Amino acid sequence: MRPFAYVRPADVEAAVHAVATEPGAKFLGGGTNLVDLMREGIERPDTVVDVTGLPLDTVDDLPDGGLRIGALVRNSALAADPRVRDHYPMVSQALLAGASPQLRNMATVGGNLLQRTRCPYFYDTASACNKREPGAGCDALGGFNRGHAILGVSESCIAAHPSDMCVALAALDAVVEARSVRGTRRIPIEEFHRLPGDTPQVETALAPDELVTAVELPAVPVAARSRYRKVRDRASYAFALVSVAAALEVRDGAVTGVRLALGGVAAKPWRARAAEEALLGGPAGEEAFRRAAEAELATANVRPGNAFKSRLAEATIVATLRELSTEGDAG
Ligand code: SF4
Repeated sequence: MRPFAYVRPADVEAAVHAVATEPGAKFLGGGTNLVDLMREGIERPDTVVDVTGLPLDTVDDLPDGGLRIGALVRNSALAADPRVRDHYPMVSQALLAGASPQLRNMATVGGNLLQRTRCPYFYDTASACNKREPGAGCDALGGFNRGHAILGVSESCIAAHPSDMCVALAALDAVVEARSVRGTRRIPIEEFHRLPGDTPQVETALAPDELVTAVELPAVPVAARSRYRKVRDRASYAFALVSVAAALEVRDGAVTGVRLALGGVAAKPWRARAAEEALLGGPAGEEAFRRAAEAELATANVRPGNAFKSRLAEATIVATLRELSTEGDAG
């Protein structure tokens, strides 16, 4: 690993000041995979600003009934919070579906937001990768791409976002709070992660000197009846091939509220707006669920290695909505 300076600021002001003034500085928080990338020589910061000691580890009630989650709240603590379990079960389930208990005890909400793709070519410096080296090409396009994205892809990159938690946050319209020496900025989660386009190396809307300080969950009553379903190659410690975060409200047999987002299928958590639109106001039945899922996957751009994901995503959407709809009619 290349030598680097290490600083551990005591407060947020000092942290954002350190990144603004130290050349080539990067924030390090629990849950990011910055250290892995430094070991492989993919990331080479001159200074690492360790933010794990900052006082950003509380979950506070918001006046509108939502929650403000500090960026350093541990994944395990958030999953166990009774307010999250009762009002946003999809968030709790998504957190518990990720990583291992040991990692969940270390990983933080902010770090989870900023983890990088697990595309194997990104980590292999002998491979061509536009994300690691813009303009180099993409060995995943014609290579082993079973775990790669099928929605929002480009010819530059087909990497998938690895987070489970972020899929639930996308379904809930979470807002990311970021701080720099210029002040505080609030970024809707849908704008936070980016699709690859011609610049796959730019993964988020965050400026290099901005520190994620919190995530806000608005009050979303329909989320009290929600699920996170993850399909993967083995039962634990594996990334999603496909995942679904869904909330559903049914009155008199009709869908009166729905939230839907997909994981494992795009470079960002994929808010399934076409499916939501198809479902809202219509019947809550198998056929409607299937048509909504097909509407969402209509733009899928698959390769031989990951073509199965399209049908798998449709089936997982239908199964998750079916499960929610059989829990009873809210009317
Ligand atoms: Fe790199 Fe993206 Fe291609 Fe993977 S899919 S090799 S991350 S450019």
